[in-house]
Amino acid sequence: MENYDVVIIGAGPAGYVCAVRSAQLGLKTAIIDKQWLGGVCLNVGCVPSKALLRNAEIAHILRERGREFGFSFDNLTLDYEVAVKRSRQASDRLTKGVGFLMKKNNVAVLMGSAKFAARDTISITDTDGKTIEIKSKNIIIATGAQTMVPPAWKVDGKHIITYLEAILQTKLPESAIIIGAGAIGVEFATIWNSYGVPMTIVEMLPRLLPLEDDEVSTELARAFAKRKITTLVGHKVDSLEASETGVTLQASGDKGVVSLKAAQALVAIGFRPNSHELGLVEQGVKLTDKGAIEIDERMSTNIPGTWAIGDVTGKLMLAHVGSAQGIVCAENIAGVETVQLNYEMMPRATYCQPQVASFGLTENQAKERGMEIKVGKFPFQANGKALGLGDYAGWVKIIADAKYGEILGAHMIGPEVTELLPELTSAQMMELTTSEIARNVHAHPTLSEALMEAAHAAEGHSINI
Ligand SMILES: Cc1cc2nc3c(=O)[nH]c(=O)nc-3n(C[C@H](O)[C@H](O)[C@H](O)COP(=O)(O)OP(=O)(O)OC[C@H]3O[C@@H](n4cnc5c(N)ncnc54)[C@H](O)[C@@H]3O)c2cc1C
Repeated sequence: MENYDVVIIGAGPAGYVCAVRSAQLGLKTAIIDKQWLGGVCLNVGCVPSKALLRNAEIAHILRERGREFGFSFDNLTLDYEVAVKRSRQASDRLTKGVGFLMKKNNVAVLMGSAKFAARDTISITDTDGKTIEIKSKNIIIATGAQTMVPPAWKVDGKHIITYLEAILQTKLPESAIIIGAGAIGVEFATIWNSYGVPMTIVEMLPRLLPLEDDEVSTELARAFAKRKITTLVGHKVDSLEASETGVTLQASGDKGVVSLKAAQALVAIGFRPNSHELGLVEQGVKLTDKGAIEIDERMSTNIPGTWAIGDVTGKLMLAHVGSAQGIVCAENIAGVETVQLNYEMMPRATYCQPQVASFGLTENQAKERGMEIKVGKFPFQANGKALGLGDYAGWVKIIADAKYGEILGAHMIGPEVTELLPELTSAQMMELTTSEIARNVHAHPTLSEALMEAAHAAEGHSINI
């Protein structure tokens, strides 16, 4: 039986990054996956969805803003199949890259479904039903998460779908209902709306992107209304049924009982960790009541030698968080210097139009904690680069400690704000103050000037507004 220092179950962004780091640290490493390298993120999540969103951005400009930019055409044809093909190419390219990385770092790749046979032994069954066992001093669980669907809603892959069908289908629905206004819901709303699909988003909580700062939700609702996306927030879905031709949904909330019909419904209400078919209970590994694997700040479970990273830990179900956990986990196993992750300060990015990006406390959270804060806000309407791009909805908002100017959080909605996040997360990590960010000269004209201006605003001396 082959013996390893580290065996990782799951080759998503948590698992494969952890494998590279383990191998770099001289640990004999293997990674197991039952279907692909790159996990949900590279195959059917982050990467292909962002390719579709790029198509959506261009489609929206051509369909709705041609006159403004001086483009005219007699017959505009939008071929969505080509958009999906392009998204598959982006995905394939990256997943092949993961294979290359495994080879380059001498990580053994084993394809098959993995399960604990003992604390230090994993059994792997491939698609032909052949089973082998391997041993390892350390076993890292990085098996990700799957869409949460209430049992009464029957996903048939045709009329009632999850992100998986939504990302792979080459034909657009004639009309759609999106259930859930989290990141996945609002991203698909952006894609489908850009291609002219009429739709309604239904959300149980009172606002779009309910975990973001209140003002972000209001701004996004305004932008979606402008794009003629119907939103029904504060409404809980009571029933969802498919028929031969489409779906019927009933929801109740502030507007009473609402009945909706559409060709397709996308269920995007959340994820649950893939922790149930690994034999964890038999090994005594502790799970939370939501089925996530409990870990400490080292990424260790309650069983020494058994570790967990990524979505399966239910911390923040984001690819970059999983990758960061993977690196910390490998470094703890190797016993080298590492860091403790501050989940509250992790960047969060949503690629709807306009984009949303944030980290840290919202204004309300800071107030609820009794903190004395100052808030600096700057609108993209007053930013030269945004005006040139013709993309100036939204703003940057920085929440800082009132006395010392320490950054407690930042919330942005607008053009390419996901690319602006790292400046502020680095500043927060390096304990820079709003006064120091304001003093950092930013090139003109750039979208990043909005960060400097918001920092000036927090200091009480806005320049360009
Ligand atoms: C449509 C969509 C868009 C998204 N966009 C973003 C985004 O823009 N940014 C972002 O940060 N996040 C995004 N996410 C979330 C992101 O995809 C996840 O946070 C990320 O994939 C989690 O990584 P992971 O390594 O924990 O798990 P996964 O990527 O889910 O990988 C887990 C792997 O484990 C394997 N596996 C599971 N069980 C077993 C087993 N028993 N044996 C062997 N292998 C097993 C699976 O095959 C899979 O490859 C998106 C998700 C979706 C669905």
